[in-house]
Amino acid sequence: MDKKVTEMIRNNQRWARKRLKYNPTYFTDMAQGQTPDTLWIGCSDSRVPAETLTGNHPGQLFVHRNIANMVIHTDLNCMSVVQYAVEALKVKDIIVCGHSHCGGIKAAADKETRGLISNWLMHIQDLYTRHQTLLNSLSEEHRLEVVTRLNVAEQIWNLGRSSIVQDAWARGQDLTISGLVYNIEDGHLLEEGVEARSAEELEVNYRNYIARLLTLTDQDLEQEVLDRANKDKQASDEDESEAKPHNDLDYY
Ligand SMILES: [Zn+2]
Repeated sequence: MDKKVTEMIRNNQRWARKRLKYNPTYFTDMAQGQTPDTLWIGCSDSRVPAETLTGNHPGQLFVHRNIANMVIHTDLNCMSVVQYAVEALKVKDIIVCGHSHCGGIKAAADKETRGLISNWLMHIQDLYTRHQTLLNSLSEEHRLEVVTRLNVAEQIWNLGRSSIVQDAWARGQDLTISGLVYNIEDGHLLEEGVEARSAEELEVNYRNYIARLLTLTDQDLEQEVLDRANKDKQASDEDESEAKPHNDLDYY
């Protein structure tokens, strides 16, 4: 067998043994069924594993991933996942998570033809075209960052306007959809202001968010990085002052 696969199986056996050591009924409990309260729609990028970076364990997140975390109404795969999550699992949250250094966002910018995948990336190319005045005013690095945010907002908009989510809201189901961006450089998940709990809230929040993005400058984006670094420093000082021994199941 391939060396990598052999290693993965060995790691898996070690992981399963460790789980059983902490909880002898871990797997038999898991076999009873799943009740995740969140659907995560993220990018397929190997650096953005949903459970690891949100401190969740198996059974806690229902996950769909594709290139550039898109919600396209004609994508039967994604829409089936959304339908099952909303109607069968009755998740309370759906998160769309984009990330920095996304290959899909970068590839859409250069307009090179790449066969089948170019069709998928066209959805992002539309964003470049629609917002070119803002994007042309920004540096290359910030342009990619803003397209990543625009893309998350766009996917929240698509998700919120899908018949599945619209029907859930219409029948009064408790369902919040919100956007995040994972910053690979510092490991932070950043909230994007496109949260919605109803069709009305979606309209208002999406439009306000896009309007706010359209005013961003290079200076604003640099300031955001500084503010984040300061907050991070403060939080890490607080962590040290309340340091406690960690359980290795918290880190897998
Ligand atoms: Zn990506």
